[in-house]
Amino acid sequence: HVPPVNDIRVMVYNSKLLTESNEKRDIELELHHAVIAEQFEVFYQPQLSLISGKHIGMEALIRWNHPTKGIISPLKFIQLAEELHLINQIGLWVLKKACTQTVEINELFGLDLRVSVNLSSVQLQHPRLLQDIKEILKETGLEPRLLDLEITEGSLFNFEKSSQILEDIKNLGIHISLDDFGAGYSSLSYLKKLSIHRLKIDRIFLLNIPKEEDTLMTSIVTLGHNLNLKVLAEGAETLEQVNFLKTIQCDEVQGYYFSKPLPYSEFTAYLDKYLNID
Ligand code: C2E
Ligand code: MG
Ligand code: MG
Ligand code: MG
Repeated sequence: HVPPVNDIRVMVYNSKLLTESNEKRDIELELHHAVIAEQFEVFYQPQLSLISGKHIGMEALIRWNHPTKGIISPLKFIQLAEELHLINQIGLWVLKKACTQTVEINELFGLDLRVSVNLSSVQLQHPRLLQDIKEILKETGLEPRLLDLEITEGSLFNFEKSSQILEDIKNLGIHISLDDFGAGYSSLSYLKKLSIHRLKIDRIFLLNIPKEEDTLMTSIVTLGHNLNLKVLAEGAETLEQVNFLKTIQCDEVQGYYFSKPLPYSEFTAYLDKYLNID
C-alpha cells in the first residue's frame, strides 16, 4: 500500500522537525554541562594604535571546547546561552579569566595592555553587574583603567536604564566601547548622551576597501572624533586597508592582518615575537 503524496510530505516534514528539536535539546543540555565543567576558553586578538604602531590591548573572545565536536564559535552558542539564562554565569567566567590573564601578560612583558571583554545586553540589565565587576577587579588585581567593556547598539533598547549603568561603570574608571558600530539600526542622537570612550567600526565597512572610495568610513571617524571618542576599525585583513585607515586618521585597529584570535599561550608567544622585532 502506497500512502498518498500528501502523507509522505507530512511524515518527512515531521521527522525533520523532530531531529531538529532533538538536536536543540541535546545542545541545550550540553551547554548547561559545559558551564559546570568549564569547557570554555578565552582567545585573544591584538589591538594596535595606528598612530604609534604599538599594541594597546587585546579583545577577549570566548570559545567552547566541546569534548567531541572540537572548538565551537561564540556565534553558535551565545544567543542560546542568553535564552537559557546561562549568559551571566558564562560572561562572568570570561571576565574573570580575561582579567587574570591580562594581569599575567602585563607582568610577563612589563606592559599596560588593556583587555576588551564583550558584554551581552542581558548582562547589562543584571542588577548585580556592577558589584560583580568590582569583585572581579579586586580579586584579580586588574586596574579598572585596563578593562574595556564592549557593548552593542542592541543593548541600548532600554536607554535610560542602560545609560545610567554605563555611567556607573565609567565612574569606576573602566572603559566602554560601542561594538559593531554602524551595523545596527539606531539613531545617532543617543551617542552624545552615552558615557563611552570608543567606537568600534563594524568590519562590513572595510570589506570593499580599497576597491571603492569609501566616504562612510571617513565620516564615522570624523563623527567619533567630534564626540571626543577614539575610533577603532575592526576586521583589517590587508596592508592596504591598514594604510587606508592611517590616511583617514582612524586611531586604532584590530584584524587578521595582525593576528587571528589566539589561545593564551599562542598569544603570549605572538607578543614575545612582536616585541622583539620592535
Ligand atoms: P565581536 O565582538 O564583534 O568580535 C569580533 C569578531 O570578528 C571575532 O569573531 C573575530 O574573530 C572576528 N574578526 C576579527 N578580525 C577579523 C578579520 O580581520 N576578518 C574576519 N573575517 N573576522 C575578524 P568571533 O571570535 O567568532 O566572535 C564573534 C562574536 O561573538 C563577537 O563579535 C561577539 O559579538 C561574540 N562574542 C565573543 N566572545 C564573547 C563573550 O565572551 N561574550 C559575549 N557576550 N559575546 C561574545
Ligand atoms: Mg567585540
Ligand atoms: Mg565587533
Ligand atoms: Mg560582532
